[in-house]
Amino acid sequence: MPKVLITGVAGFIGSHLADRFLKEGYGVIGIDNFLTGRVDNIKHLRNNPSFVFIENDLGREQAFDFKADIILNFASPASPVDYFKYPIETMRVNAFGALNMLKLARKNNAVFVQASTSEVYGDPEIHPQTEDYVGHVNPIGPRSVYDEAKRFAEALSMSFFREFNTKVRIIRIFNTYGPRMKSNDGRVIPNFITQALSNKPITIYGTGKQTRSYCYVDDLVEGIFRVATLDGIDGEVFNLGNPEEYTILETAEIIKEIIGSNSELKFLPALQDDPKRRCPDITKSKEILGWEPRIPFREGLIKTIEYFKKNG
Ligand code: UDP
Repeated sequence: MPKVLITGVAGFIGSHLADRFLKEGYGVIGIDNFLTGRVDNIKHLRNNPSFVFIENDLGREQAFDFKADIILNFASPASPVDYFKYPIETMRVNAFGALNMLKLARKNNAVFVQASTSEVYGDPEIHPQTEDYVGHVNPIGPRSVYDEAKRFAEALSMSFFREFNTKVRIIRIFNTYGPRMKSNDGRVIPNFITQALSNKPITIYGTGKQTRSYCYVDDLVEGIFRVATLDGIDGEVFNLGNPEEYTILETAEIIKEIIGSNSELKFLPALQDDPKRRCPDITKSKEILGWEPRIPFREGLIKTIEYFKKNG
């Protein structure tokens, strides 16, 4: 049975990846320290004989000795609220966690997929963002703990590729949403859904004219599966996201309308260094992976709203 090791397995995306790889017949080893991940996200896997869980904080240098064919390095706080709260932990896990897993990938001759982020582009000056855009990041702003940590993890991954031919692939994940996000995660979709469901004011940071593009988690997982299992793409970087762009105000209106909520909009001060526009160019992913998102925003939102109604 092929084996995949997933760090951050109790997180929103990590837990969906575990489900997908188990369904494809892989054995899954999952690691998490529950700093921002949740037991609830993986409790359905408790009695699955193909799933092994290890509680471990990857934010320090360690040697591991697992056998794995694929390593998916997803351990990191990822919501701005979380990385503002855990800045040092965020930097540690993206440095030492990546190092530990790259060393293990090298030892196993395994495929190594580094979860990176659209945040490496910072507040971008070109639209939409292609993989060769080098970014516009403030290295000392509050978001830098995440942006620079992920840039470091990318640089380290590429060093292993160049130095040792490790089978590295980097994915830059754009805003993703779906079931298993935390209702108090702080990101725009869970915030707006939670607020709209309880008819509380919807909090708009700044003018609400900034944009984001949202990918439903099942689409993202399909893209990651292809990156992890395709041959001939070592050392490559892929944008994974949905290129349909919405302003934050539009996002609020769509969520209100689906829920039938009468929440007011409450305008709060803009966050520092909040990117004004964000939209992936996925030409490369379409051409090489044959991948593009399929689930329309409204359809994904309906599934996510159902989840928050049950679990909110
Ligand atoms: N945002 C907002 N109200 C909220 C949460 C987020 O207006 O309650 C805005 C935030 O300022 C940003 C966008 O929504 O412009 C997306 O924020 P999120 O935290 O989801 O992730 P980001 O894309 O910034 O990493």
